[in-house]
Amino acid sequence: MSSTEMTILVAEDEESFVEALELGLTREGFTVEVARDGQEAVDKFEMIQPDLILLDLMLPKMSGIDVCRTIRASSQVPIIMVTAKSTEIDTVVGLEVGADDYVTKPYSMRELVARIRAVLRRHQGEEMPATPRDRTLKRGEVFLDPERHEVSVRNKLVKLPLKEFELLELLMNNAGKVLTRDMIIDRIWGAYYSGDTKTLDVHVKRLRSKIERDPSSPKLITTIRGLGYRFEDQKR
Ligand code: CA
Repeated sequence: MSSTEMTILVAEDEESFVEALELGLTREGFTVEVARDGQEAVDKFEMIQPDLILLDLMLPKMSGIDVCRTIRASSQVPIIMVTAKSTEIDTVVGLEVGADDYVTKPYSMRELVARIRAVLRRHQGEEMPATPRDRTLKRGEVFLDPERHEVSVRNKLVKLPLKEFELLELLMNNAGKVLTRDMIIDRIWGAYYSGDTKTLDVHVKRLRSKIERDPSSPKLITTIRGLGYRFEDQKR
């Protein structure tokens, strides 16, 4: 993650800390804005919409706790709370003001930057949740949705009995590969296979009649003589 476009709002009233933070964070590539009291922190937050707030607990006009609560009422912006004593951390954590992390003065710039990056990374991960794996299959003109148990061909919904659906799903999942008759029978019928060697062929024939433009000259499900069947891997 590049920090070049990240703006950190530093809410801090002690000048020595302000200077060190401006220098250190700017060197790390962050843009730094400073608020010197609690009210200014809230105002500047609304004005500049920073990517993260480094919030001192003890601030004039409005405490860090109140600033945190105020901002949390409308925003999930990452907030790192800074306390003077480690015992204060327990207090603010107990108050559940909604900060993402806490650091105690004195802190090393290296540690602080590591915390900032960790919080930013975590926050970005939350903003972009991993999309649930899409199991729908789209192969050329055939679209299959296992969740909804739907198949459409050339944008028309096609009704398929369970075994035909499973057969098509298996073939589409292995598009471009030859699946042997034994393998298909094993996967679709398994132990319940009647033993009639024609069952598979009958299902393939029915399937073709529903999805092929010309079932007598199949282009989607092709027969590989002596081996089995293949769903042709068409351009998507
Ligand atoms: Ca202070």
